[in-house]
Amino acid sequence: MVSLEAKRAEMLDGRALAEQIKKEVAREVRRLWDEHGVKPCLAAVLVGDDDASRVYVRNKVRACAEVGIESEHRALPDSTTTAELLALILNLNQREDVDAILVQLPLPKQIDEAAVIAAVDPSKDVDGFHPVNVGLLALGRPRFVPCTPAGIIELLDRNQIEIAGAEACVVGRSQIVGRPVANLLLQRNATVTICHSRTSELPSVTRRADILIAAIGRAGFIRGDYLKPRATVIDVGVNKITDTNKARALFGAQAAKRTEAIARHGYTLVGDVHPEADLVAGKLTPVPGGVGLLTVAMLMRNTLQAARARRGL
Ligand code: NDP
Repeated sequence: MVSLEAKRAEMLDGRALAEQIKKEVAREVRRLWDEHGVKPCLAAVLVGDDDASRVYVRNKVRACAEVGIESEHRALPDSTTTAELLALILNLNQREDVDAILVQLPLPKQIDEAAVIAAVDPSKDVDGFHPVNVGLLALGRPRFVPCTPAGIIELLDRNQIEIAGAEACVVGRSQIVGRPVANLLLQRNATVTICHSRTSELPSVTRRADILIAAIGRAGFIRGDYLKPRATVIDVGVNKITDTNKARALFGAQAAKRTEAIARHGYTLVGDVHPEADLVAGKLTPVPGGVGLLTVAMLMRNTLQAARARRGL
């Protein structure tokens, strides 16, 4: 008798890989100190009091401590102006002891986000959002690669998923996930299709993909019939579900853990990929426990890279 379990997708463990990458970074950070007396330093800038942003920055600062990277947490009030934030960035750019600058997005509405991103010294831009770093990536000469896309490629590589020659489909074309991950896949010789809200017949496009990246921001949007059987599916989406009925509708018989989480914390985190995709995909990243944790690990790696590159090491 064929067991139903055998048909389920293999879960790609982002948590274990993130721990492994952080260990590797910690080893290199120690070596940089032992051989050159250098300790990398990341300045993390948080503007306003958005809860999610505060948690993200706290996790990044914690990860720094774990791997031996110095960090400086700069928190500015919600009323901060563009000029005030630019002045802080200028100061961080000029400081010799700061190797890396991270400005947590999104910024409050009154701030000119593009001006702030462009103000960060490209050699300290560990998020890889500065136009110079975006351009280098588009040219196929990446310097700092945005952390989530870099984590996705790392996850594929370390799970021996062949990128060259694969049909890859990226759903979402944002500057922080969709576009850069599509560029990276192209650079690695995948045949890449980028989809978005105006793509017609989306399932017929996604069904061609050996590797599907979902970065949309809509809970459970990619259903089983969007997938090529045995495809590798990377679920980037992080969507907060607060309604137990919605959780039940998504997870069916498996909803208990989710409704408990809603009762306890007020929400549960759900990806862009529908739980039923588990029966069609060959490999799948869970949410939570997939791509999200890798993002922070890759930020640590970019910070180490910045500290070395600034000193020609
Ligand atoms: P954006 O909102 O910037 O972009 C969403 C993209 O999805 C857009 O390109 C949009 O198309 C496309 N889209 C929206 N609706 C549809 C649809 N019906 N069909 C096809 N495409 C559609 O999101 P982000 O890229 O910033 O984030 C995407 C998700 O990933 C979010 O859930 C976010 O929380 C998560 N995320 C997770 C990270 C992690 O570390 N795990 C890091 C960053 C993001 P169009 O351009 O036409 O509007």
